[in-house]
Amino acid sequence: MTKERLDKILSNMGFGTRKEVKSLTKSGEVSVNGQIVKDSSQHVDPKKDIIEVCGEKLIYRKFIYLMMNKPSGVISATEDYYEKTVVDLLDDEYIIFNPAPVGRLDKDTEGLLLLTNDGELNHMLLSPKRHVPKKYFARIDGRVTLEDVKKFKKGVILDDGYETLPSELKIIESNEISEVEIIIYEGKYHQIKRMFEAVGKKVIYLKRLEMGPLKLDNNLKNGEYRELTEEEVKMLK
Ligand code: URA
Repeated sequence: MTKERLDKILSNMGFGTRKEVKSLTKSGEVSVNGQIVKDSSQHVDPKKDIIEVCGEKLIYRKFIYLMMNKPSGVISATEDYYEKTVVDLLDDEYIIFNPAPVGRLDKDTEGLLLLTNDGELNHMLLSPKRHVPKKYFARIDGRVTLEDVKKFKKGVILDDGYETLPSELKIIESNEISEVEIIIYEGKYHQIKRMFEAVGKKVIYLKRLEMGPLKLDNNLKNGEYRELTEEEVKMLK
């Protein structure tokens, strides 16, 4: 790890803007290797040097990667005036890194949601050019048929005239309430709900199971989250 400006490190870790960090440092609240540092432009090695803010030792990490089993009833945003967000479910030790959800799940959709402050990875996973597969489990009001499977494979026309890319629909159970799995390779607004509407059916429950190589950890209950393992991060990159 090369050296970086102290104000950049502290700002990345959620101690405020560069300006705020500058005044925090000036007030004598920041020390490096036991020495108070008043100049926030000083370069330090966050992996080797011991940085303390208000007497608390920092454990420096540039990026954090969290896998959440998103519960229904919270929105996929960082903050909202009225609604509870997925970031509201995180502990302060993670919030200081300013993580953001990678893409959106609807308020009533559950399942795999990745949160990170790694903007590059976030963009990469959402890039329309990359067609990262996303797998969902869904309950549908009505009988899902092999005709629907064929239509989804070909691409269906949504209410705004957009023709979806081919998707893979697998029927688990076809009944008055059907159960299916579906893999899509894009992420239009309310895509799965609108795809079923396009074949005259309604999604009554939706849960994301996979995103690219990442699978939802079954040990996570609704609303729980954990850090990705190093291997999981590597797989995503
Ligand atoms: N498709 C939807 O309709 N909703 C989601 O939350 C995700 C995909």
